[in-house]
Amino acid sequence: MFEYAPAPESRDVVDIKPSYQLFVGGEWVDSQGENRHKTINPASEEVLAEVSWATEEDVDRAVRAARKAFGPWSAMPGSERAKYLFRIARIIQERSRELAVLETLDNGKPIRESRDVDLPLVAAHFFYYAGWADKLAYAGHGPDPRPLGVAGQVIPWNFPLLMLAWKIAPALACGNTVVLKPAETTPLTALLFAEICRQADLPPGVVNIVTGAGETGAALVNHPDVDKVAFTGSTEVGRMIARSVAGSGKKVTLELGGKAANIVFDDAALDQAVEGVVNGIFFNQGHVCCAGSRLLVQESVADELLDALKRRLATLRLGDPLDKNTDIGAINSAAQLAKIRELSDLGEVEGAERWSPECPLPDRGFWFPPTIFTGVAQSHRIAREEVFGPVLSVLTFRTPAEAVEKANNTPFGLSAGVWTEKGSRILWMADRLRAGVVWANTFNRFDPASPFGGYKESGYGREGGRHGLEAYLDV
Ligand code: NAP
Ligand code: MG
Repeated sequence: MFEYAPAPESRDVVDIKPSYQLFVGGEWVDSQGENRHKTINPASEEVLAEVSWATEEDVDRAVRAARKAFGPWSAMPGSERAKYLFRIARIIQERSRELAVLETLDNGKPIRESRDVDLPLVAAHFFYYAGWADKLAYAGHGPDPRPLGVAGQVIPWNFPLLMLAWKIAPALACGNTVVLKPAETTPLTALLFAEICRQADLPPGVVNIVTGAGETGAALVNHPDVDKVAFTGSTEVGRMIARSVAGSGKKVTLELGGKAANIVFDDAALDQAVEGVVNGIFFNQGHVCCAGSRLLVQESVADELLDALKRRLATLRLGDPLDKNTDIGAINSAAQLAKIRELSDLGEVEGAERWSPECPLPDRGFWFPPTIFTGVAQSHRIAREEVFGPVLSVLTFRTPAEAVEKANNTPFGLSAGVWTEKGSRILWMADRLRAGVVWANTFNRFDPASPFGGYKESGYGREGGRHGLEAYLDV
């Protein structure tokens, strides 16, 4: 066995300020409130910066700035709006190393992922929707589709910059203006994005960024002058938002949790399936709404697949997220770590068998080893609830019909994976799986042209693709 030499990415490319203001009307402004909070690097618990905690007045000021900008922005020809979006996309590419390092520092995800997955997708999203801005009349929503107005957007911490791109790019392409609130634990790339908006000469007020916690998000979605609410986060908060905006006339899209089944048939290419299962649940420490957190494997190949999976897991490298060899980074927060621990401990109490490879954890920061539960029953909480961590529940099935039944036996319906060499079986399964996205012989693949979104408690509305325009047009 060769040992890996450390291959750390330098953090010199990022210039983190000790403290940040709010980005409103194209300017950095002080919050009206006294509250500030610190954002830390979850891999070391080092404080990275202090950010403002926007109050209701701050949110109001941001919404007013967005309202003021809406008139001219929506009246601008789509081909002009497209130029700004193309410019933003290009600056993101030019500054992608800086953005990737900052994302990894604030979130804990491996640099390999922020550099090779998040950032290319972020830029691709802006390029893609830039292309739509002057073609909205051909999007299938009538000859002259109108924007909605001011969009209030609230995003989670698992893909901070990517979720920002999913929200801001289509909104702007359609002629809306936005106020966005990033998650409390990962505000820094959104604040750097604000700087990029200035660098691109985006008209003031088209994009406003207000940092803060849940109350700031609530103030934003409840603001009477917000026309559109776009939320990505937990089902619990999504439910609260749906309740609070009901009857207000605001248009809403909700992208919530998931408990996806990754289904492996006995005729699948097993080595490939193992890679797909690993990618499905251990990518981004399992902090992925569409993670393949339930492995359904056909009984006749279950032992073989599990052996191969365990061998593969033993080679995963957990540690410094800035090291280019790292596969598994830090858990994003102490609170999330506590939740993963609680559900995993419950898995054992309920009778499932827990396994992790030998995996030393760093002393500081928040860490959880890749973990597999076998002997999982459908009634177990680890089979029903979203763990949102590197924890896989393994169940078996005998027939395709049983696989479908088990896969659909969940209140969620965001994604699913099917591994088989038979095309006909893929189509048969895809017809029956109640999931917004069904991947075949792959998993966690994203493309800005492809719509994403869920059924049931995974939310409503679609992001990405032509479908994603509908959420920001008055149709
Ligand atoms: P969360 O607690 O729902 O938080 C999401 C965002 O909402 C954060 O910015 C949060 O602010 C804010 N927020 C909290 N309470 C609010 C309220 N009452 N009103 C308005 N905003 C409020 O979820 P999370 O723990 O950050 O994220 C994990 C969840 O997101 C998982 O369930 C995951 O499945 C889901 N997710 C879904 C998708 C998808 O596309 N379907 C993508 C990624 C994640 P603070 O951070 O300051 O609390
Ligand atoms: Mg942080």
